[in-house]
Amino acid sequence: MINERMAELGKERSVIREIFEYGNKLKSEIGEDKVFDFSLGNPSIKPPQEVQKTLENLIKTESPIALHGYTSAQGAASVRMAVADSINNRFAVGITPDDIYMTCGAAASLTISLSALCNDGDEVIILAPYFPEYKVFIKNARAIPVEVKVSSNDFQIDADALERAITEKTKAIIINSPNNPSGAVLNENSIKTICKILLNAQNKYNNPIYIIADEPYRELVYGAKVPYIMNHYDNTLVCYSYSKSLSLPGERIGYIAVSPKSADKNSVYAAVCGAGRSQGFVCAPSLFQKLVERCTDAVADIEEYKKNRDLIYNALCEYGYEPIKPDGAFYLFVKSPEKDAKSFCDKAKKYGILIVPSDSFGVEGYFRLSYCVDYGKIERSLPLFKKLIEESKQYE
Ligand code: PLP
Repeated sequence: MINERMAELGKERSVIREIFEYGNKLKSEIGEDKVFDFSLGNPSIKPPQEVQKTLENLIKTESPIALHGYTSAQGAASVRMAVADSINNRFAVGITPDDIYMTCGAAASLTISLSALCNDGDEVIILAPYFPEYKVFIKNARAIPVEVKVSSNDFQIDADALERAITEKTKAIIINSPNNPSGAVLNENSIKTICKILLNAQNKYNNPIYIIADEPYRELVYGAKVPYIMNHYDNTLVCYSYSKSLSLPGERIGYIAVSPKSADKNSVYAAVCGAGRSQGFVCAPSLFQKLVERCTDAVADIEEYKKNRDLIYNALCEYGYEPIKPDGAFYLFVKSPEKDAKSFCDKAKKYGILIVPSDSFGVEGYFRLSYCVDYGKIERSLPLFKKLIEESKQYE
């Protein structure tokens, strides 16, 4: 008998992937130029030049063993030192290399952190709208996802809703800011409110409650300030990834940083190492560990995302759509002009526009559009977005 739980997860459809596959089929039928695929969050800008140069240099100068051999399970000491230095230089949190665990991107950082913290039946709070994979990761750790909606006015924290959701079984909350799918950045006020509520709950239940800060979009901001959670709350694990900041999603490289001020920090870090080991996530890709050691503070040129954001946001507003103005990431979250977002997204397919209804992100009545695509493609899609909303209005 196979593991039915895993088989179910394998069969469960991902709406985003389905739309993406549909787009590939459509491209082969009607031509690539007639399909406007806004479904996936695959970075469209080049990695920074520094990354390109460092990679070439590493290949020319380092021995094959150094480049491709195993490192320590938790990552090479020199790499963890460089990551810790970079964090301390920017946020002054006194982190050490022994608080860092190198991983295969944010997805691995999350599965490892959740398995490290959760026991069977623990509850993990996720803020809707959320990245749909959170539910899979939480269930894999044998914990229970508990959904809390953010305020629909400004996508900041709804303090009452969060307070109501916490129980004696609450083990952690995942915070994702800048957010996929809304592009919202949780401001300092929201972060302070969350921390205060969690501190009260920790005292009430006499149990640590952790913040898991999922931060693949930290560097992708258009002027907003993203508070560093460790500076506000001790029981914090930061799940970072270079997928988006360096435009390297296929290389699978990131890290977990355990706050040095976490209660029983050594046990938490040991549990992270144990979870990484038990999931087979030891020794993140060596070549890219070496690369990030030399490029810890590099960031891809996000000016192109900003140009895309301004173009699509302004145009959609002009046509009568109601998008949330994103402060970060590369997603636009838009109120569906029809009550049923799914039916609206189906209608969009007729125009070759592929967008994702919000139901799988835990809220109804919106669609998500990834604007990490070519600027020209966005320009050519605009008349179609205009026709689409005009068609929708006819049926009102
Ligand atoms: N968390 C969020 C919010 C994401 O949007 C993604 C990927 O799109 C991930 C985690 C996973 O990132 P990675 O590719 O680094 O595993």
